Amino acid sequence: MKILAKEKVQDFLRGMNREAQVYCPQRTENGDMLLLPLGDGTYTGEVGKAPFSAKTVLFPQTENLLLFGQGTITKITEHEKTIVFGVRPCDMRAIAFTDRFMRRDNLVDPHYFARRYAVTCIVVACNEPPSETCFCKATGGELFLTDIPHDVQLFDAGSYFIAMAGSERGKAILGNGFFDSAGEEDRQKLAAIEERAAHAGMATNGVQSATEKLLANKVDDSFWELLAERCIKCGGCTYVCPTCTCFNVYDYPGDAGYLRCRNWDACLFSGFTRETSGHNPRTTQGARLARRYEHKLKFDLMNYHETGCVGCGRCSDVCPVGLGAIEIIDAINKVQESRKR
Ligand code: SF4
Ligand code: SF4
Repeated sequence: MKILAKEKVQDFLRGMNREAQVYCPQRTENGDMLLLPLGDGTYTGEVGKAPFSAKTVLFPQTENLLLFGQGTITKITEHEKTIVFGVRPCDMRAIAFTDRFMRRDNLVDPHYFARRYAVTCIVVACNEPPSETCFCKATGGELFLTDIPHDVQLFDAGSYFIAMAGSERGKAILGNGFFDSAGEEDRQKLAAIEERAAHAGMATNGVQSATEKLLANKVDDSFWELLAERCIKCGGCTYVCPTCTCFNVYDYPGDAGYLRCRNWDACLFSGFTRETSGHNPRTTQGARLARRYEHKLKFDLMNYHETGCVGCGRCSDVCPVGLGAIEIIDAINKVQESRKR
């Protein structure tokens, strides 16, 4: 255990930035707080809950995969050494979830893991939920990490952070000159912070009852079709979701051949499942909305014994028509009639 004075954090991040690209929560000119490369905004010391998670670093919106043409294929694997400061515990759970997804059935995504192995995650635990749409506890999470792999976890102790290493990389970071030794008083403070966080109240306790209804097939097609009438298909819910990784692949012509990229896609878009023949197995927006939430709240639970939703609440923050996870879970819990799908 070590401690890091908050007045030293800026210098600590600048120091780290000499050996790796550092991302941290920063305010942009228009006041948004985003996880950006150090210097692209203003670091104010706030961590909060940025509208986008560390997914934007590990699985960027657009990523180059390979160059091909004139008889050659060159694979592009981008793996710049990177440190992400200010990862929230729910987002670290999402990264662990994505790690498993990206190597399921022994099919390893080399582009994802090239980045993943190059990224060091410094988590800042939540003393209390950073926003009223947080519901991590209802999905099996906590305001601080106990058993999810990470590199460093910081606990806010007022004028300083209490720092715990979670990996060898984390131990090396805590060994640099910015961290000071912790004492018995800090140990007691940490125990008190964890105790308070463990009892912090949080919204949306209806996750379990909603998943039970979905598992029992008590939510029918008409439920999804009715809700989906107001979906404007913007894709915001999937883009901000730390566990959503739908993508599409595009080839762009250039002077030396073609560049193959992958870009974020969304299961809420009709084109996502449309086949080359024109056939689309998910013909309606209701079917697509059902797919998104059944995937997270039913099939992931069946396959991995945990939901694909970590309760960050971002989809509820951004959906312009009130179709985020909180509202969907609430609506499922209000379903009275049952009919098998
Ligand atoms: S479904 Fe919504 S609340 Fe759940 S992890 Fe994704 S963005 Fe967060
Ligand atoms: S954010 Fe809301 S409106 Fe946009 S695609 Fe998702 S559910 Fe539909």
